[in-house]
Amino acid sequence: MKKVAAVYVVILVLFSNISFRAKTLILNNDSSDTNTIEYYQTMKRDLLCLMMAYPKYITNIEKEENGQVYLVMESGRKILYDDKKNKNFKKKLSNPDLQDMMEQEYPLSYSKSLMEEDFDPGRRRVYDLLKEVYGESKQQIESNLKNVSLGYENYQFNNNNKAAESLQNAMRELMPIIKERRDIKAYLYPCSGTFNYRLIAGTDQLSPHSFGIAIDLARDKRDYWKWASREEGEERIASYPKELVEIFEKNNFIWGGKWGHFDILHFEYRPEIILKARYFGGKLNDKEWYSGAPYEDPSVKNYIEKINEVLK
Ligand SMILES: [Zn+2]
Repeated sequence: MKKVAAVYVVILVLFSNISFRAKTLILNNDSSDTNTIEYYQTMKRDLLCLMMAYPKYITNIEKEENGQVYLVMESGRKILYDDKKNKNFKKKLSNPDLQDMMEQEYPLSYSKSLMEEDFDPGRRRVYDLLKEVYGESKQQIESNLKNVSLGYENYQFNNNNKAAESLQNAMRELMPIIKERRDIKAYLYPCSGTFNYRLIAGTDQLSPHSFGIAIDLARDKRDYWKWASREEGEERIASYPKELVEIFEKNNFIWGGKWGHFDILHFEYRPEIILKARYFGGKLNDKEWYSGAPYEDPSVKNYIEKINEVLK
């Protein structure tokens, strides 16, 4: 009997120890806890992706005495990484900091099903960053627009930070494909618009179309979460051509078809989101926080050194 009791005690101790460890692991994985290794690793990766995505506009990073980390922009404007506020899903959408913007990992893998309702990677936008890069006002943005040929007609896109060039490259890749594949062509044409200075319906936030960094392709009534049920959206996504999505993603565009709040005709130039997915997607604890990034590139190496120096 004694033996049985001892075994029981050992099992109990082992079990409570395991569950205790599991609990600490869960706590440590919470990226909102600012003292964890994960928090710093994520911050460094986010900053690196931002510096790679906006090389002409981000000149430095800075850590102030209170611990706050900022991007320093070309104009001298500083953009805060983490406001340390506790925000729910809605608040993260209406008032995101850089951390919130980069938080949900965009999946580069192809899936025919609709994302979870509150999974909208890239739908959060930091307007200070967009204004700095693409123009502060309607007038300034308009002066940065350039015509991009969509094959049959020209559309205006922002010429800053390689946005117009990236759309042109995507179109150049698509042209020979749609000559062979009429089914894909039907998803591309007629284009439903690019630059349009307007608010997102039902919000006081500017649409990314206002900055000339988004394009809506051929429209279908099942394309938008406000127009259609999730079943209808799912049906449309299942039919959407993989090749079209992959070419846009390759050129640093995210697809609204990968948002729970789906916007299937919508593609948006967001290099920071795609770079994070490309270099760090699905990776947690590698030896170095930057492993995955192309650090043999001298400018990338430079950014990594800068980040290591400021965030020692
Ligand atoms: Zn759109």
